[in-house]
Amino acid sequence: MAEFQVLNPATGDVIETLQSDSAETVAAKFGRARVAQPAWAATPANQRLELMARFREQLVSQKDELARLLSREVGKPLQQAHNELNGFLGRFDFFQEKLVSTLADETVFDADGMAEVISHEPLGVIANISAWNYPWLVGCNVFIPALLTGNTVLYKPSEFATLTGLAMARLFSAAGFPEDVFLPVVGAGETGAALLEQPVNGVFFTGSYATGRKINQAVAGRLIRVGLELGGKDPLYVCEDVDVAAAAAGTADGAFYNNGQSCCAVERIYVHASIYDAFVEAFAANVKDFVIGDPLAPDTYIGALTRRDVQIRALEEQVADAMAKGAKLLCGGHPIERAGWYFAPTVLSHVNHTMKVMSEESFGPIIGIQAVADDDEAVRLMNDTPYGLTSGVYTPDKARAKRILGQIDSGTVYWNCCDRVSPRLPWSGRGHSGMGATLSTYGILSFVQPKAWHWRG
Ligand code: NAD
Repeated sequence: MAEFQVLNPATGDVIETLQSDSAETVAAKFGRARVAQPAWAATPANQRLELMARFREQLVSQKDELARLLSREVGKPLQQAHNELNGFLGRFDFFQEKLVSTLADETVFDADGMAEVISHEPLGVIANISAWNYPWLVGCNVFIPALLTGNTVLYKPSEFATLTGLAMARLFSAAGFPEDVFLPVVGAGETGAALLEQPVNGVFFTGSYATGRKINQAVAGRLIRVGLELGGKDPLYVCEDVDVAAAAAGTADGAFYNNGQSCCAVERIYVHASIYDAFVEAFAANVKDFVIGDPLAPDTYIGALTRRDVQIRALEEQVADAMAKGAKLLCGGHPIERAGWYFAPTVLSHVNHTMKVMSEESFGPIIGIQAVADDDEAVRLMNDTPYGLTSGVYTPDKARAKRILGQIDSGTVYWNCCDRVSPRLPWSGRGHSGMGATLSTYGILSFVQPKAWHWRG
């Protein structure tokens, strides 16, 4: 078994050294999850709901320590770690509330001695391979409904959020879940690949498009359920009729919250030419005011980046590429000289689609702002991407927003808001942003298979 170190991105210090699972231990865990699954599926829904309620109690009683652990492990400001845990609870409560009604048997026909009924059965053993940017939130999308619907789960947290993943497993044990119903699998990409070699019944993945493609290819031909929540290059269009100061403040938060490491972070902004200069100035002023620092300090808004080499190199490349092609740097553009992995929040104006900052996922504290002549140009540019996760429009004119957003090819659209996820709405990406849906009642049905009953008599 290989060793790997969990580093604190804000200091570079080693928090803990862990052993990765090997192909053999992954296979053994799969075997245990397979054996545990039928009894878990046979456990009445109300008992599963009760166990989940105990899991919730455990989580709430340890929330402060869990938030601190998350902050130390991924570099997220403590306040935002608390927000993530609160968000987890909101999604969790939605699933608890909707489980029974969503899975209830449905009689769709009953006449002349013939009845037709739809019921739902779990898929079996689920592999959940996850990302580090919101381990609680993206985990909740998958393992909570997967468990509630009677599946057992092999959960591979990101190698950059493993301690949080192990803490989740401890909460399930402390809540009294049967053994082997939720099993963490520890390690990086090779461990994820080893997990996919097991005959699991479904794979639910959150991460980059590049890895999502590999996962889809790895299980192609096995005809199992695959859910992919992937990256985005989420556009936002600011019309000329907005309150510039309010729109600048709202969209700056949408771009830089969680250090821009959100799948639905605003990644590129289009602004009507008539207010372009005023908007860019107001936006940059907001960004310059962000408090950058120790993630554990209460007023920090921008913490450390989670992945040192990959992220800082990608951000430097995007800045250099944009500058070489004529962009203007309004702030940031460089790593910050301090312990840990920090990048100064960066605003680029006078950008265009030949630049990487407007075409490749940034997943960090950087934004490009481009002027557009009218709504048609904005729609064309917003759709000029292989991704399709979220898109937004700021305007007081609802009919105009509806017209624009109706033409946009993405799973989620926002009017006068951004970087927002609701448990009540389906979360789905189009194109390179993924396939399948989580959250909402779609996100419960993703983990079951329908059974059609023809009853005569
Ligand atoms: P990543 O693709 O690098 O890694 C994700 C997971 O895949 C990790 O657990 C990793 O160990 C595992 N993995 C890597 N190679 C593998 C392989 N060959 N086989 C099996 N598993 C493998 O992504 P990341 O850096 O953890 O997360 C950032 C990405 O996730 C961004 O692109 C972001 O947009 C996306 N994301 C999307 C959503 C969404 O809801 N759409 C949510 C959060 C993050």
